[in-house]
Amino acid sequence: MSRHEGVSCDSCMKGNFRGKRYKCLICYDYDLCSVCYDAGATTPTHTTEHPMQCILTRADFDVFYGGEALTVEQPQSYTCPHCSKMGFSESSLHDHVAADHSDTSAEVVCPICASLPGGEPNHVTDDFASHLTVEHRTPREFISFFVCYLEVALQHFKWLRFIATKKSFKS
Ligand SMILES: [Zn+2]
Ligand SMILES: [Zn+2]
Ligand SMILES: [Zn+2]
Ligand SMILES: [Zn+2]
Repeated sequence: MSRHEGVSCDSCMKGNFRGKRYKCLICYDYDLCSVCYDAGATTPTHTTEHPMQCILTRADFDVFYGGEALTVEQPQSYTCPHCSKMGFSESSLHDHVAADHSDTSAEVVCPICASLPGGEPNHVTDDFASHLTVEHRTPREFISFFVCYLEVALQHFKWLRFIATKKSFKS
């Protein structure tokens, strides 16, 4: 997937565009192509002051990160939807929001949900700090849990095969 399928730029109306996509974290479902973003496109509701999350297509994503798995530390850099600071990882965004915006209750779009392949692109929350805690809390723990689970499954599979070969020896 080298295009943003099903996404069109809300300024020039170009559909399924290539390259970087910028999604407003304040306006509901407002996306810009990189050309319009660089040109500073605005609408009566959207201003250039709004924090925007840069989203890569899956193909660009793989080029950027050498095809390495999504499990690496910094697969995406996130924009804080409250103060527009960029370059956060999932965990540093978590720390930043907990430290600086714990009592902010503005409605924002979750930059992590918006960036994840297959994620909910317009997840609006008025409690971003708890959303982060609930939905994006422990990616690394989850991954190690998943790896453990795979190892157990693999052991189980070997064992089953062992039994199967024993059985076939008997018959
Ligand atoms: Zn555009
Ligand atoms: Zn906006
Ligand atoms: Zn912030
Ligand atoms: Zn989210």
